[in-house]
Amino acid sequence: MVNKMIYFDNAASTKPSKEVLDAYLSAALNDFENPNSLHKYGVKNLTDINRIRQNILKLFGFSSDYEVIFTSGATESNNLAILGYARKNSSRGKKIITSSVEHESVLNVFKELEKEGFNVTYLSPNNEGKFDLEKFKKEFTKDTILVSIMTVNNEAGFKTNIEEIAKIVHENPKCVLHSDCAQTLGKYKVNFNTFDLVTISGHKINGLKGIGALIKKKKVNLEPIVYGGGQENGLRSGTLDYPSIVAFNVAIENAMKNFAINYSNITKLHDYLIDELSKIEEVTLHLFKDYTPYIINFSLRTKKGSVIVEALSNKEVFVSSVSACNSKNEPLSYVLLNLGKSIEEAKNSIRLSLGKDSTIEECQDFIRIFKEILLEVRGR
Ligand code: PMP
Repeated sequence: MVNKMIYFDNAASTKPSKEVLDAYLSAALNDFENPNSLHKYGVKNLTDINRIRQNILKLFGFSSDYEVIFTSGATESNNLAILGYARKNSSRGKKIITSSVEHESVLNVFKELEKEGFNVTYLSPNNEGKFDLEKFKKEFTKDTILVSIMTVNNEAGFKTNIEEIAKIVHENPKCVLHSDCAQTLGKYKVNFNTFDLVTISGHKINGLKGIGALIKKKKVNLEPIVYGGGQENGLRSGTLDYPSIVAFNVAIENAMKNFAINYSNITKLHDYLIDELSKIEEVTLHLFKDYTPYIINFSLRTKKGSVIVEALSNKEVFVSSVSACNSKNEPLSYVLLNLGKSIEEAKNSIRLSLGKDSTIEECQDFIRIFKEILLEVRGR
């Protein structure tokens, strides 16, 4: 990575802040002892970790009904929440519900559970990213034990109507609600207490890769997916990564402390980009009434998203095209397809994702370079 770059791929990963790295380095050098060791340094580290758990719960406004299980990131948290809950509670029902626009770390877990005999419904939202509540109610049968719906979509930036879904889910005490909030932290303030299981990740909020958490209601029982020494109440064995947890805490504190100022800055950049992009003939913007300003998604009318991403990359501008290979021959965005967009739009989509350090000058440069590239790759 060079200094004079435009990095609009923050939904993929953010740059760790200096405070996060300082906290990591200091803890890694000075507090490397195993938090489960019985000597005084082990005890000290475990005490710190338990304090951090409480701090995280407080910062996000969780009630005292919740607890924090540290994991390696959102992928593992999603696996633990969904596999762990479904397997532990399968005697109570075999029906589980998710959406067709989830991250693959949710979708592929549901596919796995189908193989284990669970009956899975994949709900598609409307073109605003909202689920039809009547349709949901029809699927939400008495033997439904788990619903997993994300709060903010990583590819298109829309917010789901999970709060409305939550009300219906909680009418059935047998069922729990999980939400993948990897793209929600620092981007949108939701009432987390309406969920039973919440996934979070460090590297989406200027923390480190390899650390995340599953925040769960204490009374929700899970089957572990990793067995070993019994750490994290037996739910996630493995030596607790004290330095990463300390650094995660700093990242969360900063994200919450600067939430309002970052949000207002990013909104200005978002509005500028939308305004400029809407003037470009080649661009079809995917706009939603209810969205996070951190993520912008659009499709090119005649050019391939991957070609433009590569051309931008050659000019030190970094963005994403579709998130996954979903067809045999060509990658296309299953998220856009499931929102009712055309195959062409799904093939040629580009995501810009802003971060706390993004500037208006970068946005201006982006628009200039993007226009130059559209001329250069004419016909490709
Ligand atoms: N869920 C969502 C919504 C995401 O955006 C991501 C990261 N792309 C993940 C899960 C996976 O996160 P991690 O890298 O922490 O495993």
